Amino acid sequence: MDFEHADEIGPEKIVHVYDPKTKLYAIVVVDNTASGPSIGGIRMVEDVTTTEVFRLARAMTLKNAMAEIPHGGGKSGIIANPKIEEKETLIRAFARAIKNLEEYIPGPDMGTNEECMAWIHDEIGRCVGLPRELGGIPLDEIGATGFGVSVSADEAKEYIELDIEGSKLIVEGFGNVGRHAARFLCKMGAILVGASDSRGTIYNPHGIDVDKLIETKLRDGSVIKFKEGRVLGREDLLSIENDIFVPAARPDTVNEKNVGLIRSKLIVEGANIPITEKAEKILHDRGVLCIPDFVANAGGVIAASVEYRGGTEGEAFERIEGTIRKNTKEILDVVYNENRYPREVANELARKRVFQAMKYRRGKL
Ligand code: NAD
Repeated sequence: MDFEHADEIGPEKIVHVYDPKTKLYAIVVVDNTASGPSIGGIRMVEDVTTTEVFRLARAMTLKNAMAEIPHGGGKSGIIANPKIEEKETLIRAFARAIKNLEEYIPGPDMGTNEECMAWIHDEIGRCVGLPRELGGIPLDEIGATGFGVSVSADEAKEYIELDIEGSKLIVEGFGNVGRHAARFLCKMGAILVGASDSRGTIYNPHGIDVDKLIETKLRDGSVIKFKEGRVLGREDLLSIENDIFVPAARPDTVNEKNVGLIRSKLIVEGANIPITEKAEKILHDRGVLCIPDFVANAGGVIAASVEYRGGTEGEAFERIEGTIRKNTKEILDVVYNENRYPREVANELARKRVFQAMKYRRGKL
């Protein structure tokens, strides 16, 4: 018997699934359900482990509590290459296997998408992130997370005397989160001067037309194909002079080794854990404000929760705006009044909300 991850929050259940017929190997972690059935994506990659799924499930517990949606945190992993031919068979087998695990509502994550959710919906009728034709709110198409990032920046500017109008913006990772964050921030008057993806950086100090860059990225596969700017190496993005930086690519891209390059006033974290905790502290001590990931990037899960209750796209945007603005303010009030680190304050607030929800349950804490 092994309870290595157990603490005062969870995990409530760790389920290992094996289907000998389809050769499905999967892991589900239901971390905490005090606020309601857990929501979290299905990660389909060959090397996903129980520990990784648990860490992601815990991150969802905190994100969902912070976003005040009626859901706890969970996550799952299917151990397989997402490009295999039998993908639909595996996803459908996974759906049938979790049919009775009603405290877990799956959504898309790395290696899974809206089409996979449609298969799950067909099997068991319980999931989020569905295609529009099935009543879904297509999170990545409408830019739910990027919109939330822009709202958080707009609230944070009040604390650091930053004007979004005319501010210089750089975005790391011009994907679903990054490109929409750029689009919404440019709508507010920011000037995009640099954007990167896995293949390199495009730089133009006079400003990049964001819609044209999105077109290029979607058509030609990379920002480096954009003609109106200079192509730089991937990490060169960090050295570009800017006011606002949105890291929206991978974990730990800003760390103790390269944090010295950063020249931003405000960083709004679009990706999950894009900056190591140590680097975040170094930045804060240097006067760079970092809005933690699970505060700023909750737009997707808020939209998912609206979708689950049959709500509309308009309602999703309204909820994202209201929630992320309120949370950013609540955290930054404490950060500046008590001279504390944003992540420390955000963690404390999210955990407090989880414990409050747990108190309402039978056999309370
Ligand atoms: P995506 O695959 O659409 O985009 C990621 C982009 O980052 C791609 O353009 C890729 O080329 C680029 N990239 C990869 N490595 C890079 C590097 N080292 N430097 C620069 N660019 C790099 O993914 P996404 O959906 O935009 O998600 C990005 C991150 O945000 C992930 O960490 C994801 O878990 C997190 N996130 C996503 C959502 C959502 O709604 N999609 C919500 C919350 C958090």
